[in-house]
Amino acid sequence: MEINYIQAVRDIFAKREAPPLCCVHSYGCQQNVSDGEKLKGQLCLMGCGVTDDMTAADIIILNTCAVRENAELKVYGNIGELKRLKEQKPDMLIAVGGCMGQEPKTAEKIKKSYRHVDIVFGTFAAKELPRLIYEALTKKEFIVDTAERNTECFEDIPAVRSEKYKAGVSIMYGCNNFCSYCIVPYVRGRERSRSPEKIIEEIKRLVSDGCKEIMLLGQNVNSYGRGLEEKIDFPELLRRIDNIDGDFRVRFMSPHPKDATREFFDVIAESKKICKSVHLPLQSGSDRILKEMNRRYTAEQYMDMVEYARKVMPGLSISTDIIVGFPNETYEDFSRTLDIVKAVKYDNIFSFIYSKRTGTKAAEIIDHTSEEDKGERFRELLAVQREISEEHYKRFLGAEFDVLFDGTYKEEFISGKSGEFIITLVKGSPELIGTMRKVRVTKTHNWAVEGELI
Ligand code: SAM
Ligand code: SF4
Repeated sequence: MEINYIQAVRDIFAKREAPPLCCVHSYGCQQNVSDGEKLKGQLCLMGCGVTDDMTAADIIILNTCAVRENAELKVYGNIGELKRLKEQKPDMLIAVGGCMGQEPKTAEKIKKSYRHVDIVFGTFAAKELPRLIYEALTKKEFIVDTAERNTECFEDIPAVRSEKYKAGVSIMYGCNNFCSYCIVPYVRGRERSRSPEKIIEEIKRLVSDGCKEIMLLGQNVNSYGRGLEEKIDFPELLRRIDNIDGDFRVRFMSPHPKDATREFFDVIAESKKICKSVHLPLQSGSDRILKEMNRRYTAEQYMDMVEYARKVMPGLSISTDIIVGFPNETYEDFSRTLDIVKAVKYDNIFSFIYSKRTGTKAAEIIDHTSEEDKGERFRELLAVQREISEEHYKRFLGAEFDVLFDGTYKEEFISGKSGEFIITLVKGSPELIGTMRKVRVTKTHNWAVEGELI
């Protein structure tokens, strides 16, 4: 007979004096944060309460990121720190999940050096959490699940969302692109899209619950629809979402330049609800490096795209990801990246020094570029972008932004994001958090703008 693991764990917890508290800590990208919300949702079904305080928790899940080495080092540092907690509370469960958990080498290392961890599980095993917890509670042995389940779309798992006013909605999972530096296709598997009905249904539910901003999530959102029975692509999905009734706005993260068609930009331009802001990851401006990265576009094609996007949306805000120091990148290659950064005038760049990921194609290249040179280029890029933002943000002086407030900055400011994804600060009360308000920009910095409520 098949065990109902949710009920079985509930029964075990019901014998305790108080319901156990769980703490799920997600590292890395928005997709991971969204997965973490579904882990919390399952723990609640098993009878747990939720806390952000690890010291108060009876179950801790570290929902990890494997994209760069420093993310992994941070996770191992945090796992190490949990040893003391476990000594004080031997009955607590510690689990390591997410992208690092999917790599078999993680379970091996944890088994050998971090014996206070009870469970290691990968991204494919997210839905298996009730079984894993049940096994850890009943068998009292180290539980590992790194099996590949490539067809899962994680439907019908309830999510415990940290905010009511904004939400991430996964439209697809996995990635087929195999950019040569990237571990994601190995730890998140092949690309699979959710059905449009399920996506629309989820968005309608969120909007009727008061959600004001929906972020569509996927590793390559604009290849959405491949493999689905119904013939649908990302522009068509955007059109359908734009037609949903209600007072909300839509963003998405991340599109891939190779799939950014004119129709994709046209739909954003014509829409009422989609923010006029696009994250278009460049990675490098050198055609030689782009080829080595397996990105499948050239610098010229990228610039044509930006030109078209700005033609149909003159106020469009553009951000990007850049990797500095891909193996054997020369200063000449790096200069091509600077050329594009200067030509596009991004509103924001997320830059990373290349990090070698074992198992990827790029990890096999013998790299002759020194770490010092990479560091210097990285600092040069930041300085160039700082100057651009300083100048470029001045265009917002006097502009009126619709700002969704979501936090505080220093003591005196409430902060939020405009539709253009620009950090906007106003003086006001914390009650503004969770509300969308009109703001007139009165001052600009190179990373944010300040304004007043209208
Ligand atoms: N799928 C998205 C895309 O292609 O833009 C983003 C995925 S990845 C989690 C986010 C960013 O991390 C990438 O755009 C890239 O700039 C960076 N990244 C990925 N692998 C990296 C590596 N090995 N070293 C440094 N940065 C990396
Ligand atoms: Fe990684 Fe490239 Fe896929 Fe983005 S598109 S997740 S960078 S392989």
